[in-house]
Amino acid sequence: MNAPPARHGRIVAGLVATLCVCWPVAVAADAAVCPGAAGITVEAESTALTERACDAAASALEMLQPCGLNVPPGLQISVVDALETPHTACLADYDCDLNRIRVLSPAALEPLAETGSAFSIIPQDVLFDSLVAHEMAHALLEEASAPEELPMLSHEFIAYSTQIASMPDIHRERFLATDAASVDGPTETLVNPFILMMAPDLFAAAAYRQLSPEKDLCSWVDRLLTGEEVFIEMLEF
Ligand SMILES: [Zn+2]
Repeated sequence: MNAPPARHGRIVAGLVATLCVCWPVAVAADAAVCPGAAGITVEAESTALTERACDAAASALEMLQPCGLNVPPGLQISVVDALETPHTACLADYDCDLNRIRVLSPAALEPLAETGSAFSIIPQDVLFDSLVAHEMAHALLEEASAPEELPMLSHEFIAYSTQIASMPDIHRERFLATDAASVDGPTETLVNPFILMMAPDLFAAAAYRQLSPEKDLCSWVDRLLTGEEVFIEMLEF
């Protein structure tokens, strides 16, 4: 049975879990429309950070638009200092109702280096870029699947695959070489809600490895959107 997807809710990238409700502690004041990124607006505390988020969004678009995915009109990216939740460490989320991505700033990602997650070995600015790519995938999938609802695992499979694929080669290889992201044998069984919730770094590695060696992201997007490919949802969210 397919789990309910993220429409009318939030989709979150986290180190500890992927599902949580987050509230921004600080939303920076400077806002700008990204040049060449389909009218996306970014709010950040500095021009440099705004430009970085715009660049990351544009890079994600280069990966996703060839798959027939488009930016939901009015999409906003807010770079925040904290995303708080009682139980989990949230790094970013996409709010479907507000059509808004929130992502921790690189500086706010620094304390996560001590968590032991495979993501923690990624430099904070590179991790920031990859989180923007992850949430961009969610936003564009929401737009493409409306008014239908894409299952959660389909969402996260594409989002994490996009995130890992978006990294520069040297950082992606370091990520995949960590013990936490190492996969022995078939990866298919690791794309499940339990791994997604308890070990999102392992889930991300497994999802990305399913794209390899073809790295055919668009084929996966098409098959998941049409329902030709459906992951088994073992848990209700
Ligand atoms: Zn996600």
